[in-house]
Amino acid sequence: MASVELRNLRKTYGSLDVIHDVSLAVNDGEFIALVGPSGCGKSTLLRMIAGLEEITGGDVMIGGNVVNDMTPRERNIAMVFQSYALYPHMTVAENMGFNLKLAGETKPAIQARVTEAARMLDLTAFLDRKPSQLSGGQRQRVAMGRAVVRNPAVFLFDEPLSNLDAKLRVQMRSEIKTLHQNVGTTSIYVTHDQIEAMTLADRIVVLNHGKIEQEGTPLELYKTPANIFVAAFIGSPA
Ligand code: ADP
Ligand code: MG
Repeated sequence: MASVELRNLRKTYGSLDVIHDVSLAVNDGEFIALVGPSGCGKSTLLRMIAGLEEITGGDVMIGGNVVNDMTPRERNIAMVFQSYALYPHMTVAENMGFNLKLAGETKPAIQARVTEAARMLDLTAFLDRKPSQLSGGQRQRVAMGRAVVRNPAVFLFDEPLSNLDAKLRVQMRSEIKTLHQNVGTTSIYVTHDQIEAMTLADRIVVLNHGKIEQEGTPLELYKTPANIFVAAFIGSPA
């Protein structure tokens, strides 16, 4: 686990200003929900933290160190997307262990980590199956398993449940909560679903046009939204 700190982070694409001067401190083990309308810069922000996008200005710090010049692997961050892109020709176990294999881990070490992650994610019975033999929820759990086995310092989630139907979303939401309670990894979770944000997060950050409108606990945002935009987004009665 590690703290994450963003200092005056900026991103421009040509003349398009996507992230303006975002500063945010995420505590070790904290679960942050990052919410905001489509196009406000959520994915861009996550990709900069992960090292998948060049930073225009400012710093990304992980565990107190500036990581701007580090590769994604060196940052020890795991990212879970909505399109989980499992390898169709590999079994669940092989999918989950693939990154460890690339990192040069031994077979017994990989097997131990995969077995442990499978138990945590209720995938033990499916380890020999191919992705095509799984339900959508099971596939999403494999995608999370692939991230968990690496024992990352930070989890970044980019709308991981948005492709699932409503019932499955509710179920997976509680699984993510349990996972976080068990492993305690610092997490930044992008969602446009305010109920997901309210139920999962220690703190919610509301982004709009690349700027933070407000950050606070779910209750703080609900009770004292800073402005009409936050109130509308969180669904406060005001
Ligand atoms: P969100 O995830 O909140 O929906 P994004 O971070 O994907 O928003 O996008 C923020 C803005 O940046 C959008 O206006 C989008 O069109 C723009 N954008 C994202 N990626 C690129 C890119 N590679 N080149 C140019 N513009 C981009
Ligand atoms: Mg996005």
